[in-house]
Amino acid sequence: MTVRSRFFTEAEGQAVGIENAGAAGDVLLVCEHASATVPQRFGTLGLSPEVLSSHVAWDPGALAVARLLSEKLDATLIYQRFSRLVYDCNRPPESPSAMPVKSEVYDIPGNFDLTEAERFARTSALYVPFHDRVSEIIAERQAKGRKVVVVTIHSFTPVYHGRFREVEIGILHDTDSRLADAMLTGAEGASLTVNRNDPYGPEDGVTHTLRLHALPDGLLNVMIEIRNDLIADEGEQANISAFLHELMGKALASIDE
Ligand SMILES: [Zn+2]
Repeated sequence: MTVRSRFFTEAEGQAVGIENAGAAGDVLLVCEHASATVPQRFGTLGLSPEVLSSHVAWDPGALAVARLLSEKLDATLIYQRFSRLVYDCNRPPESPSAMPVKSEVYDIPGNFDLTEAERFARTSALYVPFHDRVSEIIAERQAKGRKVVVVTIHSFTPVYHGRFREVEIGILHDTDSRLADAMLTGAEGASLTVNRNDPYGPEDGVTHTLRLHALPDGLLNVMIEIRNDLIADEGEQANISAFLHELMGKALASIDE
């Protein structure tokens, strides 16, 4: 029995969720912080139900928006089915925030003093299959001569360390800013506050997925951060996904490759 196969109960299934696998669109949607579910073997990680359902554990609303975009763009969606508190799939294994001992103001007791074996088990069960699958999807498409655009969907908390964030949508990028630039141009004059590399940027280590899967082959890419109070219910999620769909569609059409 491998480390990976005994990590989850049968009912929990596996780490990776894929929807619209046969999509014909160029965009590949990635949602690393889609879920607040903690695998049974970790109990509560020493956290209260409030913290376990808060932005500390996941990106509220992000998966719902990603699903709507998947429909509108005819895009395959890949998402992580378990909480970033156990393994944050937008971080490399060597990063302290991959298995954080603290998130914002909350200590994560279940992540204290992890052994090498425990870190390996989490990496093997959650991180490796997730990024393997992203790589496979990209490689399969490239083998068919298809174009791939990597778009990751996140949400952020409106109040962080006691401070309110004015930005409503963050368009984040690493060294390849082509798609982000086009989206920011398209967002000029929009009713929403759309900012570049805000509230996070590459210096915070948040472009890991882009660095793994888009930058090496020069694939167009962007990371989208949505303030989570704007996507709290279905109506809001529909509005924001419509806004992003239009913005992304125009941006992609404006880029000559
Ligand atoms: Zn996130």
